Amino acid sequence: MKIWYAGDRSKALCETCRKVVTTTFGYHDVPFESGLAVAREIMAATCDECGTVVAIPPQSTPAIRTARDIASRSLEVVVAAPFLEMLDLAAYRIDPSAGSTLRKSLIAYFVHRSVNDEALVKRLRSNAEIHKAKWQSWKHAPAKRLSMKVTSRTSEEFDELVKKSALKKTTLIKSILMDIGREIVEPDNPPMMPELRRMVAALAA
Ligand SMILES: [Zn+2]
Repeated sequence: MKIWYAGDRSKALCETCRKVVTTTFGYHDVPFESGLAVAREIMAATCDECGTVVAIPPQSTPAIRTARDIASRSLEVVVAAPFLEMLDLAAYRIDPSAGSTLRKSLIAYFVHRSVNDEALVKRLRSNAEIHKAKWQSWKHAPAKRLSMKVTSRTSEEFDELVKKSALKKTTLIKSILMDIGREIVEPDNPPMMPELRRMVAALAA
């Protein structure tokens, strides 16, 4: 793989000039396809005639991916302390050294798993009813903020799950936390554990 440096020259097709032009490599701000955000100062080749970015070398791919993740939305809810204790207990069970970094991955995992499974969506919908008494009693516990930066994929899937479940954002999160409790905290030997540990190992790699 060729590594390009600022000032290197090449040739590429410029869509603006509608011809093959000479190009110069340098660090530039490049907008994403969506146009919603920009990857700042990544290596790219610009047209020598009009200045348009015409090529992005492979070496810039990781930086673009990182920028895209950072540009993603934040997911924020306020819930009673026991909800977060459930989440942290689940994370602790999967990997005692992970701390709160696993919170986001666990929620993203459950969102991803539920979004295309009608039975799981139905269960998310029924959790509020099933756990009504518990949720009521937790109202006296301190309120805690759960704030996470999530990737655009998770954010989109979460929005889709809000639609499919017809639950409010906060209720959906609480309901997901009930599922996390039932599947990871309550069982003596959670069947999901091997898969979750593989996921954590992959994240750490
Ligand atoms: Zn041009």
